[in-house]
Amino acid sequence: LSVTAKRLRSSAHEDETILLLVHDVTAVVQAQRDRERLAAIASHELRHPLTVMIGTAELALEDEAMSPKAVERFQKLLDASERMLEMTQQMLGPRSAVRSGTVVEDACPREETDLTPILVDSVASYEQAGHAKDVRVSLSTSGRLAAVVDGFRIRQVFDNLVSNAVKYTRAGGTVDVSAGREGDDVVISIADTGIGIAPEDLPRVLTPYFRTAEAKKTAGGTGLGLGITQEIVHAHDGVLSVDSVLGEGTVFTVRLPAPTDARGSEGTA
Ligand code: ADP
Repeated sequence: LSVTAKRLRSSAHEDETILLLVHDVTAVVQAQRDRERLAAIASHELRHPLTVMIGTAELALEDEAMSPKAVERFQKLLDASERMLEMTQQMLGPRSAVRSGTVVEDACPREETDLTPILVDSVASYEQAGHAKDVRVSLSTSGRLAAVVDGFRIRQVFDNLVSNAVKYTRAGGTVDVSAGREGDDVVISIADTGIGIAPEDLPRVLTPYFRTAEAKKTAGGTGLGLGITQEIVHAHDGVLSVDSVLGEGTVFTVRLPAPTDARGSEGTA
């Protein structure tokens, strides 16, 4: 129970009235406990296989006879497993998503970051998946792409958008990621020639659990990625937008404010 007391004093006489507000918060507290418990189990159970994956990849990388291509692939496996391990740790942190009910921590560590290497890594990690289904993934950047971000979270944004673009594009299609400065913003767009989204579905794709009929026919998914993506972008004072033509393709655009000292210096890097 949550109890709030308020003292009400009437000026007409000396009587004092105390108002007690009693709320039954059992359901809210229970839901919160369930969330925390689920996250604790998920985080705990995932730690073991992830540690095995990291250890195995590290061991493999010690093999000097390995070809450069194989080294690159094991390195990607290692990086992805380490990122996953970090995510499971964040699930239980003091300001974690699970505790606050939001995905993004109240105080994520932000610093001025060059977005180019993050984009390069993100795109590189989905090139292979694209190649396997005959979808060409490309990246073009122009100028210095600095923004004040939590690099780990922004990587999650790019990963979600690039992996969706690859997932919802059929053989022979393309995914073009481009990034540059537009006035005081850094603008990153992920354009695909995939299944597209019908106009009536466009406003709903950022809603948790919503999946279009075309998406359900094309690939598996949870419908949670875009909601998380939008929340991270908003936490960075940015904007996520989407344009699409059904059957032709989709463009997701992320707009992030450039750091104040980088303003007005478009194209100088
Ligand atoms: P998931 O991919 O797991 O379904 P998301 O939250 O990432 O979940 O996306 C929600 C929905 O938005 C998808 O199910 C799909 O209907 C639509 N969508 C997202 N990205 C694209 C895309 N690049 N092309 C077409 N539809 C997309």
